[in-house]
Amino acid sequence: MYVDRSVPVINAPLVDPFGRAITYLRVSVTDRCDFRCVYCMAENMTFLPKADLLTLEELDRLCSAFVDRGVRKLRLTGGEPLVRRGIMTLVGSLARHLKRGTLDELTLTTNGSQLAKYATELVDLGIERVNVSLDTLDAEKFRTITRWGELDKVLAGIDAAQRAGLRVKINAVALKGVNEDEIPRLVEWAHGRGMDLTLIEVMPLGDVGEGRLDQYLPLSIVRARLSERFTLDEIDYRTGGPARYVHVRETDGRLGFITPLTHNFCESCNRVRVTCTGTLFMCLGQDDAADLRTPLRASEANDLLHAEIDRAIARKPKGHDFVIDRRHTRPALARHMSTTGG
Ligand code: SAM
Repeated sequence: MYVDRSVPVINAPLVDPFGRAITYLRVSVTDRCDFRCVYCMAENMTFLPKADLLTLEELDRLCSAFVDRGVRKLRLTGGEPLVRRGIMTLVGSLARHLKRGTLDELTLTTNGSQLAKYATELVDLGIERVNVSLDTLDAEKFRTITRWGELDKVLAGIDAAQRAGLRVKINAVALKGVNEDEIPRLVEWAHGRGMDLTLIEVMPLGDVGEGRLDQYLPLSIVRARLSERFTLDEIDYRTGGPARYVHVRETDGRLGFITPLTHNFCESCNRVRVTCTGTLFMCLGQDDAADLRTPLRASEANDLLHAEIDRAIARKPKGHDFVIDRRHTRPALARHMSTTGG
């Protein structure tokens, strides 16, 4: 099914103009999702026509081209990656890079709704850990945040994942007046089950029909409050992403903070993102993008594709400049997080 497209050119590692090596690719395999989280999507979203999407073979070819250029970590995301039809075929095929030792990690970020169905298969294919997004343990609140989600299903998915031997990290977006009082409980719950927890600041992506100022809770405040209750020790632990971790002494677990607004982490950025239509975003917080679908479809060989990737990486911006305050109430970027996958 997959053609060997190795080309007789030297596949040089990807290094951007600021000397940052690009070793991490996040791939949104679908823009569709079975949830409608209030900070992520509007309730009535228009999704892409299926014909615009890269096929599973094209996604494999695109990811593999990046692996050829030194990408060591691949994260499948979405929309909801586990609702993309045939997703396990893609996971299975990309897993060959793990076996060959050309990839360190293949993982996914999921809302957990389909994990009960797929956890065992993911482990069998070589996946070792997944990130599950979960902002609250209160079923009613969960329904309000996700609009369409069911907490029980997600908890069953997490149970299944852990039973199958997957390491699970929980990602929670800190939302003012929604889950802020619950964060200590989330810490205790996640750590009690042997899971890391990462808190995320809400980012101004896409018009979601609600004021960002109403949702935005700076993690500097959350951290200050948590340290009244817990002892937070700074640690060096990194997972290749932007989170900065502390060890919580009382619960003996790791707590991460992703702070695109209060503390910009762009200087160490090693990531780029590709959408399900093959659009490459060099920065989550900027609009500049490169169309990789055209060169991918223009030729059976990868020369054109590599040339376009090179041109894109050569203009990777220094960083983003998200702002949420009273003067900036419109989204910084028109596209939703479900397009680029977070
Ligand atoms: N459906 C999958 C999931 O729920 O994890 C993957 C895609 S989702 C877009 C990836 C992550 O982005 C989730 O943790 C979600 O909470 C987060 N997210 C979505 N919109 C966000 C925003 N505006 N600011 C910060 N995080 C956001």
